[in-house]
Order: sequence, then structure tokens, then C-alpha cells
Amino acid sequence: MRANCWEGAKHLKVETVPDPEILNSHDVIIKVSSTAICGSDLHLFNGFMPTMEHGDILGHEFMGEVVETGKNVRKLKVGDRVVVPFPIACGVCYNCKKGLTSLCENSNPNAHFAEQMMGHSPSGVFGYSHMLGGFAGGQAEFARVPFADFGPLKVPDGLTDEQVLFLSDIFPTGYMGAEMCGIKPGDTIAVWGCGPVGQFAIASAKLLGAERVIAIDRFPYRLQRAREKAGADVTINYEETSVIEALKELTGGRGPDACIDAVGLESHAPGVHGLYDKAKQSMRLENDRIAALRQAIMTCANGGTVSIVGVYSGFADKFPLGSLMNRSLTIKTGQCHVHRYMQPLLERIEKGEIDPSFVVSHTMSLEDAPAGFDIFTHKEDDCNKIVLKPGFAH
Ligand code: NAD
Ligand code: ZN
Ligand code: ZN
Repeated sequence: MRANCWEGAKHLKVETVPDPEILNSHDVIIKVSSTAICGSDLHLFNGFMPTMEHGDILGHEFMGEVVETGKNVRKLKVGDRVVVPFPIACGVCYNCKKGLTSLCENSNPNAHFAEQMMGHSPSGVFGYSHMLGGFAGGQAEFARVPFADFGPLKVPDGLTDEQVLFLSDIFPTGYMGAEMCGIKPGDTIAVWGCGPVGQFAIASAKLLGAERVIAIDRFPYRLQRAREKAGADVTINYEETSVIEALKELTGGRGPDACIDAVGLESHAPGVHGLYDKAKQSMRLENDRIAALRQAIMTCANGGTVSIVGVYSGFADKFPLGSLMNRSLTIKTGQCHVHRYMQPLLERIEKGEIDPSFVVSHTMSLEDAPAGFDIFTHKEDDCNKIVLKPGFAH
């Protein structure tokens, strides 16, 4: 089959590789109809995630048709159309039982790598380094999906791929980001990052009853999408306006009730601060650039919540612990526990409360994945979200 393979930082190649096979009686094989490039893939592409190896197949947002089932699979059969959640989870361990599926205790065969970096290991993840299991990803014609009776969600034929594909990751992730804010009537929520994850966080904050959502980024086309498609009430371009001053002005001096970081470890910062962070990260003196998170903490209202869905990998510099502690802030965070959100969010799509296809800006052939990564990394051609299809003309 053809698959998008990581061949080193900033070097991808679509190659012919062996087809996946059933390895466990609970596996299924999916013929991928659509897959997407995520902001999280950029951290791998740009070389910021340890334990990637040459030839690793990328991709953790994918859907398609079941073409083969292991002998103990009960729920799925050949021909079913499914969306696959990005964390791999067993459904029966201590954490899965609590709904914390991105912390499944049975799905990361390389837990010892992750323990060295993080203390304890999260779940395995498709196409996301050897530290998180070394599983082949879904930017390919076929993918092996473990724990098939628990993970994949059957989706109705009446909905397009673009309407349901993002149940695999970014819609639940944005939703969890908003849910962690504990939104109450009258609340103002600020969202850093107007990429697809930020846009779903904005839309979800509105669904959950936020009075006002303020969105922050530097790309005018993304700020416009945040307003016109995701429903942000106010946007701030941090290259033109002081975010700290603007947020004070908009909130009577108090700051937003909750702040969502939908940026993550490649946060951009203007001026010397940005150069300093980049230099430290490239010399491996820190793993994560946290400019947006720092700002989210510093501007959050006293007693408020900072919800972190942007991905971080290790250790960061100049973390404002004093602000957090002295002002009674709460931090909530996590890789999304996608499994628990898929069904309820599918129901919201079916009821017409939201149409997730609003994030798509580009549809390309799987063969063009490396070009897609370049466009998405540099935010060229007003790129917002790229869907890759194995059969698409290229
Ligand atoms: P993206 O690259 O499309 O968007 C990131 C946006 O952040 C960009 O528009 C960029 O301009 C903006 N940004 C950069 N620095 C900023 C700053 N200082 N202030 C405000 N905005 C800034 O990526 P995406 O697909 O939207 O993903 C966003 C983050 O969410 C990534 O870190 C990704 O890894 C993470 N993610 C987390 C989960 C999870 O389960 N927690 C799931 C999916 C993605
Ligand atoms: Zn993702
Ligand atoms: Zn589990």
C-alpha cells in the first residue's frame, strides 16, 4: 500500500510499504477513505517529538471501511463505515473505565520510554512516535486498528466524510478544551490559537453557553474564520495589539473567566522573547515553547481556569508558577479522551447543531501529503485544515 512516511525532520515521503495485517484477534483493518493533517503532526514533522524513526507512517485522524476483522471482533463487520479515535484504548482497564481513554494502561507497549520523559505513560497513539507505542498511522491506504470493539465509531451514510472525520480528534479536543473551562452563564472565554483545534474550542464554548468568546492569533484569515465560521465574538491579532491590555479592556480589568491554550509547544512569540525561546528549544535546553500558555496564565481572572489542549512534550522554561499559585488558578489539561465524546458529538452533528466540515480548506491526494505538510506548516494559501484522500486526483 501507499503511506506517508517520516524520514527525518522536515522530510516526508509517500512510499510503497507492506499492507497491515491482523496481529491480534481484536484488530480490524480499515481501508482509509479520508485522513487529515493535524497540528500535532507538525510537531513530529518539525522534529520536536523524540523517538521517531525512519519509515514511521504518520496520521492519527482517519476513517474508512472495515475490510477485515480479527476472529474475536464482535461489534464491527466487513463493510462498516467507521471513524477511528486517535488514542488507542482497551475499554476495560482502570483508566478506560473512568473515561480517561488517552491514559489507557494497556495500549502502549513502549510505556517505559514515556515513563522516562513523563513519570507515567499515557495510552498508545496512532502514528505518534515510538514513545507512544510505535503504531503505524492512518495517512495510508490501509490501517490496523487494535481494540476494534471499543474504539471505532460507526457513522451513518447520510453524513459526508468531512462532517464526521474530525470526530477522530480535533472536534472532541476542542470540545474537551471548552468543557474543562466549566463554563457558567455570563462567562468570557479566551482562546489562544485559531487553528482547527482553536476553532472547535471556540464553537464548543459557544455550544456550552459562553457569553463571549475572544480569540487570539496572528493570521488574519484564521481570525476571520474564528469569527465567521466558529462564532468568536471578538478577535485579537497579537502582532497588532497588546493581548494583555486588550483582554483587560474587554473584561473590566479582571481578565477572562477561563483561558484555553490551543497552540502548544511551537508557540510563536514576537521579538526577543520569541528568539530566546526558539534558541533554547533548538539547543534542547527546553522541549516546549510556552509563550501562549504564559500569556493565558498571566491574563486569566483570579480564581479562573486555564485549559490546555495544545500539545507539550517535556520541560519548559519560565513557567509562571507564582501567578498560578497566588491567584488560585486551576489548570486542566490532557490528550483528548476522544472515545467518550464521539457518540454525543455525532448526535450534535446529526441534529444540525454544528457541521464540522467548516474547518476544511484543502482536499488533496494522499500522494501529495508532503506538499500538504509544507503548506500547513507555513500557513500558505490560507491553509486551515487539509483532508487527504487515497483515491483523489493528484
Ligand atoms: P495549527 O498549527 O493549525 O494552529 C496553531 C495556531 O496557533 C496557529 O494559527 C498559530 O498562528 C497560533 N499561534 C502560535 N503562537 C501563538 C500565540 N503566541 N498566541 C496565539 N496564537 C498563536 O494547529 P491545530 O491543528 O489547530 O492544533 C493546535 C494544537 O492542539 C497543537 O499543539 C496540537 O498538537 C494540539 N492538539 C492537541 C490535542 C489533544 O488531544 N490535546 C489534539 C489535537 C491537537
Ligand atoms: Zn490530531
Ligand atoms: Zn484501557
